[in-house]
Amino acid sequence: MGINLLTLCYLIASVTFILGLKMLSHPASARKGNLIAAGGMIIAIIGTIFLYKDNGQKLHNHEWIFGGIFIGGVVGVLSARKVKMTAMPEMVSLFNGMGGACAALISIVEFNHLYKSAGFTIYTPLSALGDTTIVEISKSHLLIIILGLIIGSISLAGSVIAWGKLNGKIKDFIFKGQHIFNLIILAIIILTAAYFLYTSPSHSEIKFSGIHLLSIPFISKTSLYLLFAILGLALAYGIFFVLPIGGADMPVVISLLNSFTGVAAACGGFLYDNKAMLTGGILVGAAGTLLTILMCKAMNRSLKNVLIGSFGASAATSAAKQQQGAYKEISISDAAMVMSYAHKVMIVPGYGLAVAQAQHACHELEKLLTEKNVEVKYAIHPVAGRMPGHMNVLLAEADVSYDNLLEMEQANEEFPSTDVVLVLGANDVVNPAAKTDPSSPIYGMPILDVELAKICIVNKRSMKPGYAGIENDLFFQPKTSMLFGDAKKVLQDLISEIKNL
Ligand code: NDP
Repeated sequence: MGINLLTLCYLIASVTFILGLKMLSHPASARKGNLIAAGGMIIAIIGTIFLYKDNGQKLHNHEWIFGGIFIGGVVGVLSARKVKMTAMPEMVSLFNGMGGACAALISIVEFNHLYKSAGFTIYTPLSALGDTTIVEISKSHLLIIILGLIIGSISLAGSVIAWGKLNGKIKDFIFKGQHIFNLIILAIIILTAAYFLYTSPSHSEIKFSGIHLLSIPFISKTSLYLLFAILGLALAYGIFFVLPIGGADMPVVISLLNSFTGVAAACGGFLYDNKAMLTGGILVGAAGTLLTILMCKAMNRSLKNVLIGSFGASAATSAAKQQQGAYKEISISDAAMVMSYAHKVMIVPGYGLAVAQAQHACHELEKLLTEKNVEVKYAIHPVAGRMPGHMNVLLAEADVSYDNLLEMEQANEEFPSTDVVLVLGANDVVNPAAKTDPSSPIYGMPILDVELAKICIVNKRSMKPGYAGIENDLFFQPKTSMLFGDAKKVLQDLISEIKNL
């Protein structure tokens, strides 16, 4: 009965994960979807704690389990409440790393479990053979242990590096032959893992007075050393894999590491025969992989290119050195006038809008212009900001209607019929070099064709480059005018100016 109830808990959890994931695909239902999936996870955890039986025994170390849940829960809630929207990708990256660490730890603990029980067998003197425990270790069990260890460790190390790079604590690091170096580490990991699987478990034949008594599967100390060597190599690969990757590839890497963690967690599900963990892991792995592919498409980077650790800062830095011509500025009053008398205004939000926390002011400007019969829409680039869906979340926070948000393709169709484009703290996602300059590191990335509109007003604080570190030719084009200042302050000034018109 207990087992059936537990299976039911896992089934409910799995259904809620799928439902939750489906609901996450639309901003209007995303919050609810997240809560539903979290509810399913609570059911799976409670079910495991109280109903799971290992060799007929229920889990007993409740104080450790609940202690861990309490500490983890408090840390999770506090950091989620405190985190700024702009620092969200860093937190996602760090938490993803924790998932990878858990998967790697599960593998180590499980191996230790096997090693200890098998070791007891090996070192038992023949006189005590009566007490010998024979441990059955299947190769597939070891394969899952080693897969969870490798993938989880790469995800842990890579996520920590991504976290450091996103918050500026770790700089891009690239050296000659880095791709080959990364491939060599990967090859050594695979070979060591294959050797590990081939050599352990081996069988020790116990003979007594020349008579074959038993074949005992055991794990040798060499296997233990190999396991820790694989752990070290996988951590090193995770570090060297993410270190050289430049700005514009970051979203792909984070989503790829996320899928790694999912697969590593699924390995844990296999080890413990835990269906909820298995479903959850597979869903995260699949969703992360799909998101990776979509992000690759959005940024026009091949996955192979990302996997071997490329697209470096060097290209971005050299492009940043290019010098451009003169740019012109527009005053707040002129900008207010131009927008008030336009038929259609398209707002292009970017990372700077999030930094300035100007989403509410932006929505106020939209309402004000709409009252003046100006059609106002938002053009959303898939990698604007610092995380997938960043702009959608930001604007949703300010109650901007989803109906006014246009995806990139849709927005690009509407730019030619747009009177004024207001670029708010966006840079890379409106850089025409992506279309025109094959030497640019963002060449090939689909961008918002803001230059097709009649007038383009760009708000940022200076002429400094954006995340990819490259100059933007848009700022020097005849139709473009720069409106310098912090996005929130500029929007507030525009609002009061329009009110006075
Ligand atoms: P960018 O980072 O290219 O540009 C943002 C601009 O905002 C900067 O040029 C900056 O200029 C300006 N800015 C900063 N603070 C303010 C402020 N307070 N007020 C006004 N302007 C401000 O942003 P985009 O959104 O255009 O592009 C996103 C980039 O981030 C892409 O390269 C993408 O690949 C990358 N990325 C995206 C992720 C994602 O998943 N969305 C994740 C990681 C990276 P100034 O300093 O002069 O004000």
